[in-house]
Amino acid sequence: MTNYGRYKHRLISWRVRGDERQRGVDLPAHRPTHAELFERTHHVREDTAIHRRALITGLAGAGLASPILAAEPDPLGFRPDPAFLEKAMALLKTHAAIDTHAHPGLGGSEAKTVADMREGLLAASSFAAVADRSVLRATPTGIVVDHAFAAGEAAAAYRSQIDRLHHVAADLGLPIIRTPADLDTCAGGKPPGMIVSVEGGDFLEGDASRLRAARDADDVRIITVVHYRPNELADNQTSPARFGRTAEGGLSPAGVAVVREMARLGLVIDVAHAAEGAVRAAMAETGAPLLCSHTHVKTPAYDHPRFITKETARAIAAAGGVVGSWPSGFGGVTLNDFVDRIFVLTEVVGPDHAALGTDMDANFRPTMSSYRQLPLVVSELLRRGYGEANVAGLVGGNFRRLFDTVWRSRRA
Ligand SMILES: [Zn+2]
Ligand SMILES: [Zn+2]
Repeated sequence: MTNYGRYKHRLISWRVRGDERQRGVDLPAHRPTHAELFERTHHVREDTAIHRRALITGLAGAGLASPILAAEPDPLGFRPDPAFLEKAMALLKTHAAIDTHAHPGLGGSEAKTVADMREGLLAASSFAAVADRSVLRATPTGIVVDHAFAAGEAAAAYRSQIDRLHHVAADLGLPIIRTPADLDTCAGGKPPGMIVSVEGGDFLEGDASRLRAARDADDVRIITVVHYRPNELADNQTSPARFGRTAEGGLSPAGVAVVREMARLGLVIDVAHAAEGAVRAAMAETGAPLLCSHTHVKTPAYDHPRFITKETARAIAAAGGVVGSWPSGFGGVTLNDFVDRIFVLTEVVGPDHAALGTDMDANFRPTMSSYRQLPLVVSELLRRGYGEANVAGLVGGNFRRLFDTVWRSRRA
């Protein structure tokens, strides 16, 4: 059986998830206007009809017609090319694909998402606890901070989520990624590795000395400094600035201490959600390559508070950092739109500084709704000339280089 033959079974089992669900984690700060939505959905409807016909015809031609596919709206926006799918799967079996930011199974089934990872040949993923989850609420206009943390609530929320992640790893037989070399153990359809992560430094309650236990006792390797709650450490993209000298925000003194300590401990500093001024401050204070795990560059067509300017993206790249492409509903509607956004990001930061940051299972109207779609993304990148070496960097190599640099530079 060819790779593509095996792949058809996965195709048939795909579903576009109920993308209307909002789990209240990464809902961007505002929804598109009706005019924007109309423009997009109208455009996509025409496009979808064409591509769905092409997909069904193409699959029928290959003896793979599926009544399920025919009944489903097309989530792809392009016609999978069997030859490039073969290449994609071969590439993913030899190059560890790593998702730099995700919440596998959040609010659902970790086992199901992990099964998707294996099917989609993802070698490892961030499993991010959401530090401020208990104080956030989704509203029709975006995420709001619903109430203040009670005393000890932030630390307790961290404890319970981190403990759960460790239980999930044990139950599902997932290796915990403690060093870059650990990534070698999980490439190519083996049980995917878990990179224990935290989205939001809220759990530190402003105390950098707690980082050491997070690393040594809890195996945390990536921390997103600030999430939706404007915390003790940094300004974010979606709230008024409090730190720094300009409206672009910055880090608090506690935030400076935290990013410096993270660099000293060899932890990956994730500046997704951070205000532009906070990103620059983190860069200046640490000299470490930064991860901005799930975002897009702002363009005239796609502008959103959760995206970053091209200048900031280039600065992150120039300092050796990596920017993760985020398949959110604010970057498009179909999987093809996600591929488009990857090209746009790569044009800005260069192929050595782009990565994947899917935000899986907590994303807003995801354009990539399952890890099973990873080979398709790769196949389309290859078909459109992204190049094998560049794809290998995008899907994992670039993040691995960053992790390696940060880990080797640790001084404690
Ligand atoms: Zn996020
Ligand atoms: Zn997230």
